[in-house]
Amino acid sequence: MEYEAIIGMEVHVQLKTASKIYCGCSTAFGAEPNTQTCPVCLGLPGALPVLNRKAVELGLKAAVTLVCDEIVERAAFARKNYFYPDLPKGYQITQFGAPLARHGRIEIEVEGQQKEIGIRHLLIEEDAGKLIHSEGESDVSFVDFNRCGVPLLEIVSEPDLRTPAEAHAYLAALKEVIEYAGISDADMEKGQMRCEPNISVRPRGYKEFGTRTELKNLNSFRNVERAIAFEIERHIGILERGEKVEQATMLWDERAQRASPMRVKEEAHDYRYFPEPDLTAVTLGRDLAAQIRAELPELPRAKRARFVSGYGIAPEQAAVCASSPAVADYFEAVAKACGDGNEAAKWIVGVVASAVNEGKWDVNAPSVAAEKLAALIRLVADGAVSGIAARENVFPAMLERPGLEPEEAVDELGLRQMSDEARLEAVVDRVIAANPGEVVRYRRGEEKLLGYFVGQVMEETKGRANPKIVNQLLRRKLASG
Ligand SMILES: [Zn+2]
Repeated sequence: MEYEAIIGMEVHVQLKTASKIYCGCSTAFGAEPNTQTCPVCLGLPGALPVLNRKAVELGLKAAVTLVCDEIVERAAFARKNYFYPDLPKGYQITQFGAPLARHGRIEIEVEGQQKEIGIRHLLIEEDAGKLIHSEGESDVSFVDFNRCGVPLLEIVSEPDLRTPAEAHAYLAALKEVIEYAGISDADMEKGQMRCEPNISVRPRGYKEFGTRTELKNLNSFRNVERAIAFEIERHIGILERGEKVEQATMLWDERAQRASPMRVKEEAHDYRYFPEPDLTAVTLGRDLAAQIRAELPELPRAKRARFVSGYGIAPEQAAVCASSPAVADYFEAVAKACGDGNEAAKWIVGVVASAVNEGKWDVNAPSVAAEKLAALIRLVADGAVSGIAARENVFPAMLERPGLEPEEAVDELGLRQMSDEARLEAVVDRVIAANPGEVVRYRRGEEKLLGYFVGQVMEETKGRANPKIVNQLLRRKLASG
């Protein structure tokens, strides 16, 4: 029998605010444990939450970015009650029943095929603390409350995904727009983006859904893809044996590359949701959403399309040049300053991207100012320095000394190309005069000897002759003898 997997995705991203969602504590990552807490986020008696306006605005920004058809008019909050050592209040303040927004969508691409994935809802809520289990003999656990109350955006997709590759593409597309719009830094290593896929399998052609399981503890897109593939196979195995899949939350074990059941999934009624009595609902107003919509930056898909049509670059180049807002701004600044989008794109894709990969370039603080790179591109176009020398010598020098002007670098390194035709002609004439035998052979048809003459000129000029002009001069002189 053939089977089909139905995959939905629940994603949490940390909203990019300076302070927590219901108190003024910092959200900065990496501080000493329990140094960013207060009575509110520790849930001490009598402490009252105050909603962070920025968190709501970023939630709305996400609603607009993900093209949600429905944005709630009054955002209300609810208590989700459960006990866990990382949750000092004994409840989480979240949204229930009326999420911030519904019915959004995002386009993904898998193997050249476009597909639209529905977004069921977006809501804002607070994060819990972090348990640190000691390894070794002492059987103790520690808790860090710094993360308690950090604002999260929950993004729940429709069950529109069918394969592990689609799930991966969805997460990548989501991360891209979220980062682009400045909603979250979505850094998975810092726990700023967490993904929990749910999976069910049914015989192909069936309408009814199978029993779903949920996957937790996935810290990279690769693991999401692998865990989903594992889970699909596991479900199929159970169905093939004529058994029933049990609803469960599965924990992915990266080392063993397998998922095992964590606990039986709670139902919504287990949480005893009720309206949060300490926070009044906030009226969002249409103006705020309209204003956010107007201020939304150009999103990656649109930007890539504009780069292709506006600068005449290839889609693969556009993908690199628009890989983040900072890179895109840099590319456009270079392209405008040098007047050649194609050359600018070649530099970004080749030289700049390598510098980024080697950790020599911070995309948010470019080591070589856009105007300086543009000036270097113009020097190459004018024949003042060869393309190879610019890439391999001048650019690295500028990377090391950010103040260095490309003109200065070219001169300091002695790389200024000889493009003065009269001077080069004299050298060419000398080389021709010194090699009468080769000249005769060339004229009898041994055209590959041209390379020999070019080499001689290069040797005479210590490699600084403009090869294009040398070639032209040699062809003309050798032909007209
Ligand atoms: Zn606090």
